[in-house]
Amino acid sequence: MKKNIKQILSIFLIMTFILTACKSSDNDTTQNNTDNNENISDEYSEINIDWRNNKTNIIDDKYRTFYEVFVYSFYDSDGDGIGDLQGVIENLDYISDLGFNGIWLMPIMPSTTYHKYDTKDYMAIDSDYGTMDDFDKLIAECKKRGINVIIDLAMNHSSSQHPWFLEAVEYIKTLPEGASLDPNKCKYVEYYNFTTEFHTGYTQIKDTEWYYESQFWSEMPDLNLENENVRKEFENIAKFWLDKGVSGFRLDAVKEFNSGDDKTNIEILTWFNNYIDTISKDVYIVCECWMDRVAYSKYYESGVDSMFDFSFGNSSGIITKVVTGQSPASFYGKNLVEAATTYENYNPNYINAPFYTNHDLGRTAGYYAGENSEAQTKIGNALNILMSGNVFVYYGEELGMKGAGKDENKRAPMYWSTNTNADGMCDGPPYMENVKMKFGSFEDQKDDANSIYNYVKDAILIRNQYPEIARGVTTYYEEYSNDDICVISKKYNDKEILIVFNISANECEINLDNLQIGGKNCSELSVLGTLLTSDKKIKQDGNSFKMPSYSILIMGQ
Ligand code: CA
Repeated sequence: MKKNIKQILSIFLIMTFILTACKSSDNDTTQNNTDNNENISDEYSEINIDWRNNKTNIIDDKYRTFYEVFVYSFYDSDGDGIGDLQGVIENLDYISDLGFNGIWLMPIMPSTTYHKYDTKDYMAIDSDYGTMDDFDKLIAECKKRGINVIIDLAMNHSSSQHPWFLEAVEYIKTLPEGASLDPNKCKYVEYYNFTTEFHTGYTQIKDTEWYYESQFWSEMPDLNLENENVRKEFENIAKFWLDKGVSGFRLDAVKEFNSGDDKTNIEILTWFNNYIDTISKDVYIVCECWMDRVAYSKYYESGVDSMFDFSFGNSSGIITKVVTGQSPASFYGKNLVEAATTYENYNPNYINAPFYTNHDLGRTAGYYAGENSEAQTKIGNALNILMSGNVFVYYGEELGMKGAGKDENKRAPMYWSTNTNADGMCDGPPYMENVKMKFGSFEDQKDDANSIYNYVKDAILIRNQYPEIARGVTTYYEEYSNDDICVISKKYNDKEILIVFNISANECEINLDNLQIGGKNCSELSVLGTLLTSDKKIKQDGNSFKMPSYSILIMGQ
């Protein structure tokens, strides 16, 4: 009898084209659905698998899960209030326990600012952060844990206190009015963009008729990366750090290399990438090109591994749009495929570099308000972490830290403890405002199975169990996706996994009867894991699933 009911029900579902039916958790007025659901519900059982004990499968290649560390605010090992390299070393187990196998260190070279994006010396360590010995130790400790370290390289501009700039300015100040620059007298005049004509984004050298390009700030003179001598300098600098054991570079502000001239910028990146290739093909390069997708995808022509995928990040990006419901859940899957197709077109060997937020953007916990905000903060992280490519997570996002407005607020001290005097707590950048946290500190969250911290850890764990998640080619199943549900699969070598997202506040029902992946019907797949944002479990009846709000189901062969 039950079988008959099921058959009738299947026909009913096909007839009405309802492959997914969603029911608002606080609304039971849809009489027909309620009756049917009651019949089905007898057969549903909770999915209760202990997937966390499954083996991880880490492949030692360029695909990684990166933790972005702002050393200044991460962990202070010597009590001066400023984070340091020794502090990072002391917390490598924290980073490793979360499942990260890559670290992006924001600038560590000597600088005049707290953020250190204005470099005074490209081959040294800022004394705030420690010594070169500390750095060597950090690399050695990372190697022991299988963690690759990439460092920020700000090539677009140096500090106004860099010897190259100081010498150029000193020479220019000796020139009589109307004289032209002679690189034979001072080669550094060609390292920057000096002119006697004023342009926007230029700064005048005091008491002279000369200006220099400084797109970001007067104390960050733009370097001339089309100059052969400058290129030689950066080849030596890159070689220096690769010899130190770094695995690659995060290139800052590539769209400003020659502001407004994508063609030249791509040529500059091609030079850098080709040079790095002569040292090793294993070196990883990821670029910050803060533009829209159409614009930054072209930069893949240079042959670099990765461009940060700005289209998915930030408060106005794809992840936030689907999590807040401004865009349908299906928008996520559709964009995963569209982005991949676009990037591949420019560089078949591209590795996407998704991120959800970074040091220039507001922290993601601030993107959501209301009763669902914790669940939204969690699933937003998962939508980032489950993307293909090299995923980047900004420090503190695993705790749902807050921070918006002034840049300093976005770079607040890592929230180890509510006690600001606890070991390792940093003071934070000068002029940071009081950043009020919404969720608990690491101390509060670490032992709470339902915390954001443990959710993020789970998401990275499942990513580390199935190489398909980072390396797979995505298929999006439009006929199974809608406003609330998004269904995708990822194929890598001969393995394919299925991921079903309920990105809504509703409990949703989905039937996967006719869905096939890797030549197998859904009924032949098993559940590999679930990511849940509350105590409610996903329920299964054959190929039908009841998914609680903001839940994720991962299945495979
Ligand atoms: Ca310190």
